[in-house]
Amino acid sequence: MKRFRWLLFQPFLLALFLLLAPLSPVSARAGSQPVARQNPHIVILPTNFQHVSPAAASDLSYHGGPVEETPTAHVIFWGSSWLNAGRLIKAGRVTSHFFEDAPGTAYFNILTQYSDGGGAIHNQLNFSSVVDTSNPPTDSNCQGMYPNSTVEDSSLQAEIRAEITAQHWQVNNSTTFLVYPPPTDFVHNSFGCSEQQYCAYHGTGSGIGSYAAMAFPFSSACQGLPQSPSGDIFSDSLVNVTSHELFESITDPLLNAWYGSGGLSDEIGDKCAYNFSAGLTFLNNGGVYEVQTEYSNAAHACTNHNP
Ligand SMILES: [Zn+2]
Repeated sequence: MKRFRWLLFQPFLLALFLLLAPLSPVSARAGSQPVARQNPHIVILPTNFQHVSPAAASDLSYHGGPVEETPTAHVIFWGSSWLNAGRLIKAGRVTSHFFEDAPGTAYFNILTQYSDGGGAIHNQLNFSSVVDTSNPPTDSNCQGMYPNSTVEDSSLQAEIRAEITAQHWQVNNSTTFLVYPPPTDFVHNSFGCSEQQYCAYHGTGSGIGSYAAMAFPFSSACQGLPQSPSGDIFSDSLVNVTSHELFESITDPLLNAWYGSGGLSDEIGDKCAYNFSAGLTFLNNGGVYEVQTEYSNAAHACTNHNP
């Protein structure tokens, strides 16, 4: 796709992986979301529907780069609105629980079939998180729904670098930094705006290595889940895009390891984006999630477990 080829020539090597939902499942969303958050102005480009079509028949292939053999996720919730009365809001709590509940499960075991020259990915996750209650600089590059407050990708990368220093986090081939901008803000990068061109993305940044940015799924464009096990569509949708970027960051952290014949828009999560064919996914600690399936070469299919 032209958009992505163009992307590969960007000097800072940011890859964008579209996560736009099909319009059809919207009617199946939980009925509790405020009508005020609906956005009638979003137009999903027909080209984006490639990313929500059924799983491709071809497997992932290895391109020589590192995988995260001992996966590590450092999470940043950025902005004062992530806290309410000193406590992480529900979307942050549910997302944090997902990171805690996933490792050691049959779901996370999908990852262990992928390896690099040093060995296979382990069914584990080193997870830590921080809430930064400072608010990011914003502009109004993305518009069309409330509140037109936009965080730039460059600001997200700068925030990650600041937290690497503040938290004494290490940067290495097994680490991804996952940043969550304020729940009321768009994200803007060289491809455009969250909720309009994408829902989340991962790539590499200077001084960071692998990172991912998950815009808050405040409109139906980035929701589209058949079920909402937490009872809050925003929380479940945020976990869904998180699962996609987490799996891709682990199997293709530097964008040169595992992806399919479609290139960097054909990674482990892309092949199964918005494919909920496996139903709910049951993880550790009683955690139940509506996450998309992930591609398994062993099964030649989208699945939520291995074996
Ligand atoms: Zn993707």
